[in-house]
Amino acid sequence: MEQFNAILEQYRQSKLFLKSFYKKKTKQLMSRSRTNIALVAGITTGHCLLNRHLTVMRIAEDPSCPECGEMETSFHFIAECPMYAMVRWELQGKDSFSVEDLANLSIEIS
Ligand SMILES: [Zn+2]
Repeated sequence: MEQFNAILEQYRQSKLFLKSFYKKKTKQLMSRSRTNIALVAGITTGHCLLNRHLTVMRIAEDPSCPECGEMETSFHFIAECPMYAMVRWELQGKDSFSVEDLANLSIEIS
């Protein structure tokens, strides 16, 4: 556990999604397909096809969200972007998520 927390300290975006090691969530995730595991890992680490990461990788020039103009990070995409407020409301009963909400989200991928 201490080793996990020490590693997590190095990763800014991952810290928003992972507060600690969750054995149950890890088991849930590892039972999914390789594609879905990669999707969740990409969102969790910020290494995904969102403009913030694409800009860091020099694939895109603008890190902004095409929907609202804020920086398009994983946190913005999952928790804040007004474009997806209705989806969040339908799934979790909230139009935006706090950092604390993220730690409590379950991994449900169909
Ligand atoms: Zn947005």
